[in-house]
Amino acid sequence: MAILNPKITHTAIDGGVFQQEVQDRNVMGVPTVFLNGEHFSQGRMSLGEIIAMLDTSASDKQVAKLNARAAYDVLIIGSGPAGAAAAVYSARKGIRTGLMGERFGGQVLDTVDIENYISVPKTEGAKLATALKSHVDDYDVDVIDLQTASKLIPAKAPGELHQIETASGATLKARSIIFATGARWRNMNVPGEDQYRTRGVTYCPHCDGPLFKGKHVAVIGGGNSGVEAAIDLAGVVKHVTLLEFTPELKADSVLQAKVRSLPNVDIILNAQTTEVKGD
Ligand SMILES: Cc1cc2nc3c(=O)[nH]c(=O)nc-3n(C[C@H](O)[C@H](O)[C@H](O)COP(=O)(O)OP(=O)(O)OC[C@H]3O[C@@H](n4cnc5c(N)ncnc54)[C@H](O)[C@@H]3O)c2cc1C
Repeated sequence: MAILNPKITHTAIDGGVFQQEVQDRNVMGVPTVFLNGEHFSQGRMSLGEIIAMLDTSASDKQVAKLNARAAYDVLIIGSGPAGAAAAVYSARKGIRTGLMGERFGGQVLDTVDIENYISVPKTEGAKLATALKSHVDDYDVDVIDLQTASKLIPAKAPGELHQIETASGATLKARSIIFATGARWRNMNVPGEDQYRTRGVTYCPHCDGPLFKGKHVAVIGGGNSGVEAAIDLAGVVKHVTLLEFTPELKADSVLQAKVRSLPNVDIILNAQTTEVKGD
């Protein structure tokens, strides 16, 4: 926005280089955005999300636009890789296709290296999400971003339309609906977890890891995501304790071998997390 609009100025601070700024502003998650000196937002946001926060009437305008949409032949809910694939396949059949989601790209936005996408030896999550968007844009797909489906009202009789209500208050209609809502991170549901979210409890190791440089961190979960997080963090922080509540790690063996070889990672199995405490 600052590049395009001379009335907006922007200063980006790399917390890994300017650690004092991180401490003074009590930043424990990135990016943390301050607007005119006041805390504005924290965590990855798209341009659309920023504009929606700034333009308070944007939501009403968007609801009116969505309500005016003609019914879809197929409406896909969730715009991760599965939703994008469903949209491409549907549009190729020449039927009216809508793709609605909270954030285009889904979980791949939360990872850096992707090395198991056959024919592409190495890519990055953000690059894959951009490629998915570009592929979907090659077709006649109505992409509706930054919207959460909150209710399904099924058709009352064969031949009638299903309806999807959005959290913003709009209603979309479709002959058929595909749910491609993927997965979300699982919470521990222990005391202190909500209290310390973004203030020590975080969900994006490669985003927030540098803020814990030189510190001791715990990673909860010994599946692929947890073990990958432990491996990535071990290169940044002083020490990682990987906690898994079952008697064994569930991650792929290649990842298990790697994490076990790291000198600054301890693995605790049969671990029960009961509380998050902070000082
Ligand atoms: C840290 C991490 C690393 C990973 N690394 C790899 C890897 O290296 N290789 C690999 O193959 N896989 C990897 N994965 C897994 C991969 O990202 C997922 O398997 C894949 O993204 C699943 O795609 P999906 O479209 O089914 O769901 P998701 O990617 O989960 O997308 C679902 C979308 O639906 C949206 N949504 C959910 N509910 C609603 C609603 N009510 N209304 C509107 N939208 C909604 C979500 O916000 C999301 O955008 C990784 C995942 C993570 C978290």
